[in-house]
Amino acid sequence: MNILVINCGSSSVKAAVIDGSSGNRLLTMKIERLLDEHPIIHFSDKEEPISCPSSGHENALRFALPLIKEHLGDHELHGVGHRVVHGGDKFDQPIKITNEIEKAIEDLSSLAPLHNPVNLLGIRIAEEVFEDLPHVAVFDTSFHQTMPKRAIQYALPKHLREKYGLRRYGFHGTSHNYVADMAAAHLKTDIQNLRIITCHLGNGCSITAVEYGRSVETSMGMTPLEGLVMGTRSGDVDAGILVYIAKEEGMKMKAINKMLNKESGLKGLSGVGNDMRDIIQRSTEGDDDCRLAIQVFAHRLRKYIGAYAAVMGGVDAIVFTGGIGENSPVIRHRTTQRLDFLGAVLDEDLNHDLKLSTEQPVAEFSAPHSRTKLLAVRTDEQFAIAQETVRIVEEQTKVNTVPTIPIAVSGRHIHLTQEVVDVLFGEGYELTEKAPLSQPGQFAANERVTLVGPKNQIERVRILGPCRSKNQVEISRTDEFFLGVDAPVRASGHIQNSAGIKLVGPEGEVTLKEGVICAWRHIHMTPEDAKIFEVNDKDIVEVEVIHGTRPLTFGNVLVRVSPKYKLEMHIDTDEANAAELPRHSEGVLIDTDGTAKLVKRKLKH
Ligand code: ADP
Repeated sequence: MNILVINCGSSSVKAAVIDGSSGNRLLTMKIERLLDEHPIIHFSDKEEPISCPSSGHENALRFALPLIKEHLGDHELHGVGHRVVHGGDKFDQPIKITNEIEKAIEDLSSLAPLHNPVNLLGIRIAEEVFEDLPHVAVFDTSFHQTMPKRAIQYALPKHLREKYGLRRYGFHGTSHNYVADMAAAHLKTDIQNLRIITCHLGNGCSITAVEYGRSVETSMGMTPLEGLVMGTRSGDVDAGILVYIAKEEGMKMKAINKMLNKESGLKGLSGVGNDMRDIIQRSTEGDDDCRLAIQVFAHRLRKYIGAYAAVMGGVDAIVFTGGIGENSPVIRHRTTQRLDFLGAVLDEDLNHDLKLSTEQPVAEFSAPHSRTKLLAVRTDEQFAIAQETVRIVEEQTKVNTVPTIPIAVSGRHIHLTQEVVDVLFGEGYELTEKAPLSQPGQFAANERVTLVGPKNQIERVRILGPCRSKNQVEISRTDEFFLGVDAPVRASGHIQNSAGIKLVGPEGEVTLKEGVICAWRHIHMTPEDAKIFEVNDKDIVEVEVIHGTRPLTFGNVLVRVSPKYKLEMHIDTDEANAAELPRHSEGVLIDTDGTAKLVKRKLKH
């Protein structure tokens, strides 16, 4: 597939038409000096730049995007991938753009006022010019959505954190993800077995701890200002300084913001600008400020590498990328010397002679015996966006041609008889509804109980209402090991000779002789759904997950048909974790010959 990738930034627009499998560029385009009277457009296949008739993002895009069509000639385009800076906590995956998605990107503008509005403008104009193509948003933040709570929270008052969504999001996700994958491929090791620290050092700089394929820490925060020393951004500073200079200098917030984002970092330290090449050159000529700039830059980076190794309990590879990471032996050397205690041993010659190219996008610069590998990797965010766009377009094609089944994860829970509720919560107690469940009439109750097994106990296990005629406790394999019970895999309601357990409630306790099962993964559907899927109650089918991070098929899935049901597949937490399912996933049924059932109409759920 040929994908047009558009990065509509605040000061320039970059676009490329890329073969989604090889990464080859059919053409590239750049628009610069957007605010000049006549912005300048450079096309890779033309030496002479083209002058835009009028100024500003909108005029330049309306003029330039149709030219891409002309330049492409007979080459067909299959989709458009858009870089979007801020996806907030809404997007943990790239997504096909709809009106709803555009609205969400717009709503997130307060978190990225310089970026999201222009990203969105690029999307809207591209949709007009390429109206028949699918458009996909790829977010800088989404790779970091796997960070645990402890890594994303600022120690600020709760009401402010909640009111304004003050938390760490992280950026450069597309690049960190891409170079971590490249490093794993180079090391011929599944990324699921690697702890990688990726250092993206361009004009903006950030570092990420990629633990077994997932971002668990990154240095940029709610905005791209936090963390490493960058070209013109300060990175970490004591927030007390801002209060101090605001008072002493009488500076307004706008001026402080400009100072932190545009006049600090390498520029502020060196006094000669933000270009690392110049700074290195001058430092060799004896410029003390430039020397200091390099020292502070490398020191901050080393500090983070050590911290991230501690976060992951070790590190298998440290990756350098971005203009500085890929091209500067000096910075790589200063950062990684004396990292022997982490098992990383630098090879000075390899580092010095290292040259990356399209043919050689990954190179090692650690000594052969180094337990932790040091790598330089050429990042290619445009290609990564093209690859993601291809994936989403292919998924979408499937969603449009075969009926899909939403997949829900059911955590451990318990169904009780009224008699047991009476004992646990008091005579005549009625369960109270906390939230309705997707299956009609069912609800999650506010009430919870403790499960006491021979080995351990699990507290606060949710009760699902309404009461039933039999008690049934549904737990995962992991829970079984923890509790020390041996629960069979069963369909709901089939509890004969299953495991027993003690339940403790606020008013009493009950020991069940049987009722503990590990729920057989199943699909609820109505008789109408069953007709569409050409299945019957109690059939066993296979389901291919279509939005998972990795290709995955669940075998041995039980079909349950009833007019009372709503279409949904239920899996337990162990299965969802193993599959690394994103928040909203769907599956398609697989026929026994391995092909997806093709029913040429979309199922309305
Ligand atoms: P962006 O973040 O805008 O994509 P890049 O990834 O191209 O930027 O990185 C730009 C930075 O890389 C600049 O500071 C530039 O000086 C630096 N850089 C490029 N080549 C070298 C080099 N050979 N040695 C040191 N720094 C370099």
